[in-house]
Amino acid sequence: MRASWDTSYLSLPEQMYRKQKPIPVPKPSPLVLNTQLAKKLGVSFGSDWAEYIAGNKVSQGATPLTQAYAGHQFGNWNPQLGDGRAVLLGEVTGEFGRMDIQLKGSGRTHWSRGGDGRAWLGPVLREYIVSEAMHKLNIPTTRALAAAGTGESIYREEGPLPGAVICRTATSHIRVGTFQYFASRNDHEALEALLNYTINRHYPKAKNSNDFLEMAVQAQAELIAKWMGVGFIHGVMNTDNSHVAGITVDYGPCAFMDNFAPKRVFSAIDRQGRYAYGNQPSIGAWNMAQLATALLPLASNRDIAIESFTEIINGFEKVFDIEYKQVFSSKLGLPSEAESDFLTNKFLEMMAHENVDFTQSFRALSNPDIDHILRPHPEFSNWYDQWREVADISEMDSINPAVIPRNHIIEIMINQAISGNMDYFTEFHSALRNPYSIPKNLLFTIPPTPIEVVKNTFCGT
Ligand code: AMP
Ligand code: MG
Repeated sequence: MRASWDTSYLSLPEQMYRKQKPIPVPKPSPLVLNTQLAKKLGVSFGSDWAEYIAGNKVSQGATPLTQAYAGHQFGNWNPQLGDGRAVLLGEVTGEFGRMDIQLKGSGRTHWSRGGDGRAWLGPVLREYIVSEAMHKLNIPTTRALAAAGTGESIYREEGPLPGAVICRTATSHIRVGTFQYFASRNDHEALEALLNYTINRHYPKAKNSNDFLEMAVQAQAELIAKWMGVGFIHGVMNTDNSHVAGITVDYGPCAFMDNFAPKRVFSAIDRQGRYAYGNQPSIGAWNMAQLATALLPLASNRDIAIESFTEIINGFEKVFDIEYKQVFSSKLGLPSEAESDFLTNKFLEMMAHENVDFTQSFRALSNPDIDHILRPHPEFSNWYDQWREVADISEMDSINPAVIPRNHIIEIMINQAISGNMDYFTEFHSALRNPYSIPKNLLFTIPPTPIEVVKNTFCGT
């Protein structure tokens, strides 16, 4: 693995990270390599690439590190989390500007607490395929550069499972929880350095923490609106999994909805439905409020800062509504001047009532030869006539995907990979690279049969 490492995080105060190399594994084996992405990043791999991804070799010139962060997990404050099973190999500057290259599942670190620092094949392949699919769906996200097997058994509730490491890239790994870590320790030096660093890296136009917060709110609201437009449920929107630049990070028990149910939760650990599909905007606002709180210690006048931050956080809903409206208007082919609220809300209401597939319901609208699954709903034909009068369907097939990473297909893909067969992964991955086209294998476009339905997803940590 060759790259021009240029890791700016190392110039930050030393309490913000710990130097840490990945822990070697018994037997690295290649799983998947994203050569196109590597090229764009200016990273090259030789035939021994799996050795670098599994962590047995470290690229020349790299100084790997782990980052400190804290977070609210399901609303509960945890003052110390950090990279417990990840190392940042470093930063490179390529076609996308400065990018982090991180290994996840690379062994124990200073932050591992009781964990083994490892990941198993299932979550690694899920993150790989879902993050790449999100990218193709035009949703800001970390991306997958490579995955390798470790030749080690990982012990989880399900029993021993094959170990794996994913290598991902991101515009950074700065989380709301990174700010919280230093704010809660009253570490002004680090907090200020982090604020300046984040502004410089993500929001160069921001002149102060007010601007930064406002831009972070905008990015977060946009992201969540985009998630909702494809039926995505992140599943663990803890503040440590909430990226300050509004990109999707940490694919744990995430899921794409099949049938539309706004209260839908997949994560087995989310018993209260805190991170349900329809709750995501209010959680986004809550997470931004935690970011605001973490910025307060830097304010020269606390009262004035509280007042202006409160106004920004209270504005989240409004910002979100604009983004949401935009996402759903374009999904329905509605021009911006159209009275879209009624048409959007009615369509969602009918979908929820009939319990029909979210992705197929949108896709079918721009393909009038398909008999619409909402046809049985008594109000559908009236709605359809009204909608057809204002809608322009010509772009809709490039906005509403035909293929999304459905849970039941992911499960089949993982089970095949466990038995050593990556063919299904390859086939599914290639369909997801063109999510707006009908794939050869039509099974990727249809919802699960009742016995195939995946009811819960697991963190897999
Ligand atoms: P997550 O919910 O996966 O984003 O992880 C929350 C926290 O737990 C982070 O600090 C992780 O680094 C840590 N963690 C998750 N899984 C493991 C593991 N297997 N070993 C050590 N730390 C872990
Ligand atoms: Mg996390």
